[in-house]
Amino acid sequence: MYIKVKREICTGCEACVQSCPYDAIVINDGKAEITELCQLCRACLSICPEGAISEVREVSDSRETAQGRGVWIVAEQREGKIAGVSLELLGAGRRLAERLGTEVAAVLFGGTDYDAGELVRWGADRVFLCADQFMRPFNDEPYAALLSMLIEEQKPEIVLTGATPIGRSFFPRVAARLRAGLTADCTSLEIDNETGNLLQIRPAFGGNIMATIFCPHVRPQMATVRPRVMKRGAYDESRTGEIVKVGIDSILSRTRVIETVKEVSEMAINLQDANIIVAGGRGMGGEKGFMLLYELADVLGASVAASRAAVDEGWIPYRHQVGQTGKTVSPRLYIACGISGAVQHLVGMQSSDVIVAINKNSDAPIFSAATYGIVGDAGEIVPMLTRKIKEARGI
Ligand SMILES: Cc1cc2nc3c(=O)[nH]c(=O)nc-3n(C[C@H](O)[C@H](O)[C@H](O)COP(=O)(O)OP(=O)(O)OC[C@H]3O[C@@H](n4cnc5c(N)ncnc54)[C@H](O)[C@@H]3O)c2cc1C
Repeated sequence: MYIKVKREICTGCEACVQSCPYDAIVINDGKAEITELCQLCRACLSICPEGAISEVREVSDSRETAQGRGVWIVAEQREGKIAGVSLELLGAGRRLAERLGTEVAAVLFGGTDYDAGELVRWGADRVFLCADQFMRPFNDEPYAALLSMLIEEQKPEIVLTGATPIGRSFFPRVAARLRAGLTADCTSLEIDNETGNLLQIRPAFGGNIMATIFCPHVRPQMATVRPRVMKRGAYDESRTGEIVKVGIDSILSRTRVIETVKEVSEMAINLQDANIIVAGGRGMGGEKGFMLLYELADVLGASVAASRAAVDEGWIPYRHQVGQTGKTVSPRLYIACGISGAVQHLVGMQSSDVIVAINKNSDAPIFSAATYGIVGDAGEIVPMLTRKIKEARGI
């Protein structure tokens, strides 16, 4: 959908300019013009005394034309390694495609034939592979241009990518180019039984409700999915599929990645791949309390995470934050110490296999999510645990 001004009717009276809360309307040559700042709020529609402003719904990419063209996942490689979230997306994509009776295709930029084969073995029927080395380092501009071009050519019905820094950066550009909707940070995806629309489910209003979003008019339906919320599909060594080679000859890029410099902290902590996480909240009382968590993490070979309250207090950097506005994790063991269990924290860790909660308040909501609960002072229990584990391991 977009907003259109009929220039032949517009008198340039500026009533619409005043009405726009986003300053998205300018007067050019005596006529109103809608700029890219437009948020489609429609405030201007009823304001124009001449009725020169209208909304235009584009249905050219309608279900009829797009149907049956498949579910796409955009796979991500970093330094030549396929990101785990891509395999999770393939699992989710397969499930959706089976519901729709269609195929699953993966798109891979900067990868190799072997990587494309791996995506097939993880569940893709087809892989659109651009093996050009230019696409090996992530670069917004050519990634967005090539993906938009492929989507326009092939017209998939659904396109998914990870809600990772890469996906979050270039996927909105693709949605904007295609004038498609985009639901960010989905935690669940379903197919509507009646319409076949993709139901894109994500937390909303500070995590207090789960919103179901769907796009009935425009294709493709686009969504980003948080890492670690979907299950991988099955790996099948004998699976075969088609690999479609894609070139970048027709892609113009004004930018080129010269070098990628990794932040040191990024290398040191990768919560999303951790098997065991020891997490602390405001109940740890301060940096000293967090030192107890580092000692426990050390004997367990675990990573340390935190609630937003602990991050806001400045006891630990933001990159350790788990939850709605932090990372989503699903380790085998999550030990939550002095964390109340607010819904915004739970959404980031509730798919952990085993959750142990330590809290001095027996009514704390974290206990409803926990597999095992210990009611007591974390300042006493955490060092006790560390000591016992050391004893058991003879350290
Ligand atoms: C839009 C939005 C996004 C948000 N995103 C996130 C997010 O990504 N991650 C996140 O974590 N939060 C997030 N929050 C904040 C969230 O709502 C909570 O405020 C936050 O999780 C609370 O952190 P906490 O449990 O550490 O602190 P508190 O709620 O203050 O809880 C502290 C807990 O420690 C216990 N305690 C106190 N002393 C001890 C002790 N000595 N031993 C044992 N237990 C003790 C208390 O009983 C209490 O249960 C978000 C909020 C909003 C509105």
